Amino acid sequence: MAEPQFERLALIGIGLIGSSLARAVRRDGIAREIAIATRSQATLDRARELGLGDFYSTDPAEAASNADLVILCVPVGACGAVAEQISGSLKPGAIVSDVGSVKGSVVRQIAPHLPQGVHLVAAHPVAGTEYSGPDSGFATLFQGRWCILTPQADTVPDAVARLRAFWEACGSNVEVMTPEHHDLVLAITSHVPHLIAYNIVGTADDLESVTQSEVIKFSAGGFRDFTRIAASDPTMWRDVFLHNKDAVLETLGRFSEDLSALQRAIRWGEGDTLFELFTRTRAIRRSIIDMGQETTSANFGRDAQGGEDSGSKR
Ligand code: NAP
Repeated sequence: MAEPQFERLALIGIGLIGSSLARAVRRDGIAREIAIATRSQATLDRARELGLGDFYSTDPAEAASNADLVILCVPVGACGAVAEQISGSLKPGAIVSDVGSVKGSVVRQIAPHLPQGVHLVAAHPVAGTEYSGPDSGFATLFQGRWCILTPQADTVPDAVARLRAFWEACGSNVEVMTPEHHDLVLAITSHVPHLIAYNIVGTADDLESVTQSEVIKFSAGGFRDFTRIAASDPTMWRDVFLHNKDAVLETLGRFSEDLSALQRAIRWGEGDTLFELFTRTRAIRRSIIDMGQETTSANFGRDAQGGEDSGSKR
């Protein structure tokens, strides 16, 4: 095992992402000590039972104290309040980071609370599942997945390099971009797809002409693939849409125009238009498989009974 990269890592929030980080860091000895803070006593007790850290508190300031790397693993909308809570206990030279799915808003929320000499390097591991809480995490979550770092123009390069090394040690490939560009890229690759899934599952639930039991019974026709995404954490996703409003609305506008064009093609029997699009989209899936971001197993890797989606879980 290599020498630890950090003496004390503080994880503020210990749900799916925080607990996956704790497991990966512990497995590979990436930090000498892991301090854990979470809002509720129940989650903290569970983290302790699972043996995820070395120090536990419901006070984020206590966990962050003396840490050389502090990672906020809480919903995007909670980052400002948590940053304010820990600001007085951060040691000079510490790196403060996060894992939030939106970056512009998170940087704007955290930056004003950090004292001089503390480095902010926001980050987003593009890896996850539809599960929440400390039991849902696993050490290999970040393996072969991308982690996007979004430092600001004046961020000290050494802090960025240290955080890059940390995520690489957790198994990730790392890319650096501005927070604004991140938010545009994720709007089309993650946020709008989630909104579409939430919407179609909601529409099916509201239909009067098809019963709910029929929707469930015949879901293997395509619907169930949306339900996995639409089962994602409501708090997390509410915050994503409220905090990446501009990029989501811009992407959604474009999406709606394209959907209207498809609607028109169906109405006018323009089979070539439909065929041409469906051929292009097939090629995109091929590229994702070729990049190692998805498996080729038939039916999304489900077993013969049509059970679990092995691609997204432990
Ligand atoms: P999670 O499993 O629901 O865990 C959330 C953690 O944050 C828990 O420790 C919870 O504490 C704490 N928390 C919740 N609300 C809070 C608040 N208002 N103030 C302070 N702490 C609060 O969530 P997660 O999936 O790990 O997501 C955490 C972050 O990772 C989010 O910002 C999300 O955007 C990002 N992310 C998620 C995924 C994914 O697929 N889930 C992927 C990439 C990035 P208690 O349990 O003690 O209340």
